[in-house]
Amino acid sequence: MAEENISAISTALSASGVAVIRISGESPLSIAEKMFTPVGKTGVSDFEPYKMYVGEIHADGFSDFGMCVYFKGPKSFTGEDVVEFHCHGGVAITRGILKKTLDLGARLATNGEFTKRAFMNGKLSLSSAEGLIDMINSESVSGVKAGYYLYREKLTEEINRLQDLITDTLSQIDCDMDFPEEDLERSSTEKVEKDLKKVINSIDALLGTYRAGRTLKNGVSVGIVGKPNTGKSSLLNALLDYEKAIVSDLAGTTRDIVEGAIDIDGVRFNFSDTAGIRESGDKIEEKGVSLSKRILEQSDLILFLMDASQIDNEDDKIYSLIKDKNVIVVVNKIDKCQIKDDRADIYLSALYRENLDKLKTLMIEKSVGVDLNGDFLCEERHFEALNRAKLKFTDALLGINSVSLDILAIDIKDGWDALGEISGRTATEDIINNIFMKFCVGK
Ligand code: GDP
Repeated sequence: MAEENISAISTALSASGVAVIRISGESPLSIAEKMFTPVGKTGVSDFEPYKMYVGEIHADGFSDFGMCVYFKGPKSFTGEDVVEFHCHGGVAITRGILKKTLDLGARLATNGEFTKRAFMNGKLSLSSAEGLIDMINSESVSGVKAGYYLYREKLTEEINRLQDLITDTLSQIDCDMDFPEEDLERSSTEKVEKDLKKVINSIDALLGTYRAGRTLKNGVSVGIVGKPNTGKSSLLNALLDYEKAIVSDLAGTTRDIVEGAIDIDGVRFNFSDTAGIRESGDKIEEKGVSLSKRILEQSDLILFLMDASQIDNEDDKIYSLIKDKNVIVVVNKIDKCQIKDDRADIYLSALYRENLDKLKTLMIEKSVGVDLNGDFLCEERHFEALNRAKLKFTDALLGINSVSLDILAIDIKDGWDALGEISGRTATEDIINNIFMKFCVGK
């Protein structure tokens, strides 16, 4: 069988300073030998690993002047031998060089195949690979931070710690089944109970960070609600710092949901400015009002605006709809009128941009609110697997005094398996394929 090498353009395909074409597999150096002429005496086959060599990269019909580097497996990203060409970042240049690697026998890599190989070769865990894709896809600092936490195996370390504890518990049970003396069994039960409680506590601590972790990764969806003319569009403009929404003196002007995003302390806030909630005979405005209610359901955080000069029972009605949600009550237009309202979290003027910084601080406090320097969850897949693990361990705990240890071991092993899906120790082919399909080609 022919030696297998995969190849792809690893950088974005656009006009840029530099682009990278990567080959990984059994013999990428033999491909490089046929298309790279180094400057200097060292031939490609004698390349020292991890060292950049300058020279000509030959494609069909043209050559580029660039660099070539050889990573010797297993000390490479994929764990296999890897060669990279660093060429100029033109579309025709990169495509031509990629085509040359394919003509010389490499196969075009599929989505995420480099990272999948890295996973298969034990270079990183499944959650680390997920962190990598999160980092690549993230548009906010906090998203990068969440991805980096996973990528650097922080979550895997915690999951492995829990799995090791459970492994001890299971071997204790195994040992009991081999030597079923009564005293031993009683002490085992106590130990199993203690271990399970410890693991469940740790799982609970992780589960408790999910909302905040998800916020770091995806950002916070913010809905701005209030009666017409309270200054919702003005506040959105002030926060976004440009005139995106239509501001008008006519009540009910903002009929569509206007979207925008800002970063506060690196956390992404995605805004929806909604039509004012109020009864209306106007058909189009009614559509806007129903959208508002949908936004209410979907928002992680609601900014409820009241006009300091006109607080009345319509505000009370809206407040009653949202008071149990994660809400910041904003009294706007304090330049016009100074009042006190028991419900208010903050007083500001959107028009004169007064107290906007205080609002931003409040938005962070109301959205993150967990110490994310410790362990945290940010992926739904991990959240779901941990919940399943917890259920199994809780079942085992409930049966600890009524069910024999060998039966308990089945639940405990199922919990162990669910934990292992996070790091990939026990993940099925389907889970693995699903994750890598989300990657782009070349990663
Ligand atoms: P929306 O219907 O809630 O989106 O309200 P708009 O943002 O369109 O504002 C309605 C009117 O109130 C406009 O004339 C704004 O200029 C005005 N307005 C908004 N915020 C303030 C404020 O802080 N002070 C004053 N004096 N007027 C404001």
